[in-house]
Amino acid sequence: MNILVINAGSSSLKYQLIEIVNNKIVAKGTIERIGIEGSNLVHKPEGKDLVRIEQPMPDHKVAIKVMIAALMDKEHGVISSMDEINAVGHRVVHGAEYFSGSVIITDEVIAALEECSELAPLHNPANLMGIQACISIMPNVPMVGVFDTAFHQTMPKRAYLYGLSYEAYQEYRIRRYGFHGTSHKYIATRYAELIGKDIKNLKIITCHLGNGSSITAVDGGKSIDTTMGFTPLEGLVMGTRSGDIDPAIVPYLMDKMGMDLEQTIQYLNKECGVYGISGVSSDFRDLWVASIQGNERATTALEVFCYRIRKFIGGYAAAMGGVDAILFTAGIGENDPKIREMCIEGLEFIGARIDKEINDVKGKELRISAPDSTVDIWCVPTNEELAIARETYLLCK
Ligand code: ADP
Repeated sequence: MNILVINAGSSSLKYQLIEIVNNKIVAKGTIERIGIEGSNLVHKPEGKDLVRIEQPMPDHKVAIKVMIAALMDKEHGVISSMDEINAVGHRVVHGAEYFSGSVIITDEVIAALEECSELAPLHNPANLMGIQACISIMPNVPMVGVFDTAFHQTMPKRAYLYGLSYEAYQEYRIRRYGFHGTSHKYIATRYAELIGKDIKNLKIITCHLGNGSSITAVDGGKSIDTTMGFTPLEGLVMGTRSGDIDPAIVPYLMDKMGMDLEQTIQYLNKECGVYGISGVSSDFRDLWVASIQGNERATTALEVFCYRIRKFIGGYAAAMGGVDAILFTAGIGENDPKIREMCIEGLEFIGARIDKEINDVKGKELRISAPDSTVDIWCVPTNEELAIARETYLLCK
């Protein structure tokens, strides 16, 4: 059974065709500059050379047609007809309180998604464009929506409410939603599978550290707290995002830096985080190079990043009344041993110790805790596309 996984952004679209029974990626690719001059598709069929196709793609519908043509192409294609696409799984950023799990997309679901767009104006409308384009081109293929927020819908009220007036929640839906849910759920489930234990009996802290970063407390398989909130700006200090700040800073910044509200939001999303602190880069490889060369701001940025993580790990151990495992994933979590070490440093009091030698690993499923660590620490590479394909399969098989 072939499942097409679609992650549609406003001007880009990533896809993977996955043969789900064997967990095999048949082809994958990225379309960029949809609706902008210079539209192009980079397509990589399994076992064949990468191809780059340049042609105008004024909207998502044309982009999806070009993608399907690439999948069916005589030379670099992997399927011979559209009938070989059995279901489509769409990544959707925001499901608000409507969706606590993945769903088959119906007219009602689309209406609810439109309702959610106000909460994620940068992402949901683009996700919807991808869904609508696929429906119009493949009207008989089942479509599934897999939400970044769904896994966190199990958070109790005490974790998701802000200290704002209750009306802010009731009337304007202002609450903590959390993101990266597909990844947090995937690695927690995968870890339980790897150690052969029932996730229901485990207290796990999952650290998804990439360009955007978040940590989740997974108690008995359920998210009970997570660092991102109403938007993905809350929580950890990230590549270019500030994470938690005092809200009173916003008007002060606007006044001092002469920015309007839109510019300020853009600033908090794009010019802060480790990039803003270091003035060097948001990429941790660059930060390490600068730090080793003696750039103090780069060193400070790395310390700020890890310190915030350590505080949340301690906090989530308290929230769950203990912790059995700490998991690291995504670009930094999977590939930066030194950052993992710095995040765990100082957590000996909860029984967490890393084995520095074993920890010197990239992108592998591996236990990295020391033999005397009472908390199991693992590197578990995430695979959001596979997770979306599995969710789709469960609803469509
Ligand atoms: P996204 O949120 O875009 O999916 P990723 O999970 O791919 O992000 O993470 C991207 C980040 O991972 C890069 O900005 C970089 O900081 C970090 N990264 C990737 N490879 C390495 C590496 N080998 N060492 C340290 N950091 C890395």
